[in-house]
Amino acid sequence: MLSPPTAPSPDCLTRRATLLGAVGLLALPVSALAAAPLPQPVEVWPDAAPVPGGIARLSLGPAAARPVAHGRVGDGDVPLLVLGDAMEWKALVGIPLAAVPGPASISVQLEGGGLRQIAYTVAPKRYREQRLKVAPGTVDLSAEDTARYERERAHLEPVMATFSEPLPQLPLRMRVPAPGRRSSSFGLRRMFNGRPRNPHSGMDIAAATGTPVLAPLPGRVIDTGDYFFNGNTVWLDHGGGLLGMLCHLSAIDVKPGDWLKTGERLGAVGATGRVTGPHLHWGVMLNRVMVDPALFLAA
Ligand code: ZN
Repeated sequence: MLSPPTAPSPDCLTRRATLLGAVGLLALPVSALAAAPLPQPVEVWPDAAPVPGGIARLSLGPAAARPVAHGRVGDGDVPLLVLGDAMEWKALVGIPLAAVPGPASISVQLEGGGLRQIAYTVAPKRYREQRLKVAPGTVDLSAEDTARYERERAHLEPVMATFSEPLPQLPLRMRVPAPGRRSSSFGLRRMFNGRPRNPHSGMDIAAATGTPVLAPLPGRVIDTGDYFFNGNTVWLDHGGGLLGMLCHLSAIDVKPGDWLKTGERLGAVGATGRVTGPHLHWGVMLNRVMVDPALFLAA
């Protein structure tokens, strides 16, 4: 819904650079290791990548109960996913693709009232750009299609604002929802006839029509429908403002209210909506921001 899909691109995924750094530490002599910062535990997903389209992982320190934290998205405050235990709570903050690199902050409600600000820095990341020339007149939607798109956007507003009890534990390690070649086109900036369109905000997985699509994490179905850009789509609530969106399906096997375990079938790959061929578009939303699904996958 948030942006028109693209066909899968041939690039391979490159990620987990931070873990490679951690592995490098193991080659150091013991004396050097003692002075070096400890690597992040390997079992932590998602990867922290405080860049536009990425995720900041911020420590909130110890507290008896789960703290309530908010981040700023657009003009509004949105609740954040907070995970951990009484020893240490962590906020996972989805950073918009449109975020300007530089200082940012979240606010945490104090037990006695009042707010504490926690600062972090959004690092720059330059995504690839794709320039396409198409016949004039094919880029703009008709008045009828624009009206449909606006209706769908209004319908999805409360769906995307879903915020329920978080899943009980880290790691939030996701299963790839369909087998197939994964594109690294998240964040791709597209220009049609020199005019910028929304960047690509998910992962495309190349697979034949009919290939089963599985839940990447436990979740509740919060919406199904046939949408103008995204075709047949299932929205999943993974808790705490972490949502999944699976698009262009040829079949939907679930309905709103259904609970799915990781790996349970929810539909099948297809080519519905505005697409050039069958593939799965998988979007991951955190605090109402589309973030890179690759951050939730093992290398
Ligand atoms: Zn896509």
